[in-house]
Amino acid sequence: MSTNNPGCLGIFLKLFGISPKQNAKKEVKLPYAMRDDFLSNAELSFYKVLQQYIGNKAIICPKVSLQDIFFVKTSSQSERSTYNNKISRKHVDFLLCSTDTLRPICGIELDDRSHQRADRIKRDKFVEQVFESAGLTMVRFENKRSYTLAELESKLHNALNGFERKVLAESEIRSSEVNKDSVPECKKCGVPMVKRQAKKGANKGKVFYGCPNYPKCREVVYTTIPT
Ligand SMILES: [Zn+2]
Repeated sequence: MSTNNPGCLGIFLKLFGISPKQNAKKEVKLPYAMRDDFLSNAELSFYKVLQQYIGNKAIICPKVSLQDIFFVKTSSQSERSTYNNKISRKHVDFLLCSTDTLRPICGIELDDRSHQRADRIKRDKFVEQVFESAGLTMVRFENKRSYTLAELESKLHNALNGFERKVLAESEIRSSEVNKDSVPECKKCGVPMVKRQAKKGANKGKVFYGCPNYPKCREVVYTTIPT
């Protein structure tokens, strides 16, 4: 929307030789420019082979912030801020996501020469541990001039298949019901769940336990406990 339009009042004031009040704040020109290196040459050439291998099996998201993928499941405020800070400025080179739900399938890191630096090794190790703690696969590729589809297949086949098995197993857990009148713990976060009632959808009216970290955690346990 333009802010330079003088509007009716401005025109009126001009007609009578009155200059409009200098209330229109001077437009501040922000100092941003678009980067030309969104992907490095190495990342781009890897991306092209990855695209060829993945086809329509998954969506490839380049440079995803770890904070968009993970959350800190603790209920302690200070712990949450400490661990959030640790991932706040880190990203993974590529994230493969389900074409259907865009749920992350696995992270991919490309190890260029910088990955041999001590600080980089420490950072890589930490990122790997983050993925591991959240149960998300991480696959590393050595940075090379070219890749073959067979190399990608050998490293990514298991990740893609594992994801399908995981989704299937999760749907079985989700549909399980608890009968006992005790508050279940969230399987993902290890915190007591909160009793809720479905307001819409196929389960409308049904009582269930949801995670207090919703929507970051969507674990639910349906229950037969009367309301
Ligand atoms: Zn949870």
